[in-house]
Amino acid sequence: MADEEKILKLQEIIDRSERIVFFTGAGVSTESGIPDFRSPDGLYNQKYSVPPETMLSHSYYMSNPREFYKFYRDKMLCLEAEPNKAHRKIYELEKAGKVLGIVTQNIDGLHTKAGCSKVYELHGSVYRNYCRKCGKLYRPEYIKETQGVPKCLCGGIIKPDVVLYEESLNDETVENAVNAIENADCLIVAGTSLTVYPAAGMIRYFKGESIVLINRDKTPVDSAADLVIHDKAGEVLDKIKVNV
Ligand code: NAD
Repeated sequence: MADEEKILKLQEIIDRSERIVFFTGAGVSTESGIPDFRSPDGLYNQKYSVPPETMLSHSYYMSNPREFYKFYRDKMLCLEAEPNKAHRKIYELEKAGKVLGIVTQNIDGLHTKAGCSKVYELHGSVYRNYCRKCGKLYRPEYIKETQGVPKCLCGGIIKPDVVLYEESLNDETVENAVNAIENADCLIVAGTSLTVYPAAGMIRYFKGESIVLINRDKTPVDSAADLVIHDKAGEVLDKIKVNV
């Protein structure tokens, strides 16, 4: 199918769907300047003495908090990033009453920054931070501006509310996300390699009509989708009109 035909088919699917769920990953934010993990210019292909998967693990955070925070501040805390065309079109569709939820693996907060309200952040958000000792909440700017390991007034160490490797997902977020996916009539999976579990496995709960995949590279579920578009999510979604 030619590219234009695919956009037309996507438009038809979106027009006839009333309960769309978007399932997004790091690829929807690369057009906002935030690197993903697995693209050729992604973080996993840059050279570090300790692999990013290790640096972003719970045990590394506990044993090497200073190095963890250096990497986290440099690569994960992108507070200046702005929503791109993908985030903005998803918001327009939500505003038009066509979106049941946005289930995201991203921690960058860009769906919320674009205005979306039904966002289920499976891996947490850099915008929330808390003291591990007393629970006091801290703004992300505090983490960005401090040096070394950010500490609370009580002396406790602050932790970003992001799910590190070896940590489990938040039960309530998972329940809400599964509920949205189960009740969707259309699932649009965008910008994810679908390799990080358990998040990637959640799309199996979908039992609606159409699955669409918008991803620059191939994914393990391409063959199961009704429509596959290997292109940039922002550029593709920008071509979609919001018809109600
Ligand atoms: P990933 O790096 O494994 O895969 C990203 C996918 O997006 C790739 O398949 C790539 O082809 C595709 N892609 C890149 N740019 C694209 C674009 N403009 N349009 C469409 N597709 C594009 O990322 P993942 O699947 O989300 O899983 C890895 C983990 O990455 C997640 O757990 C997430 O928490 C974490 N992460 C998040 C951010 C963020 O919050 N922005 C950034 C890096 C990593």
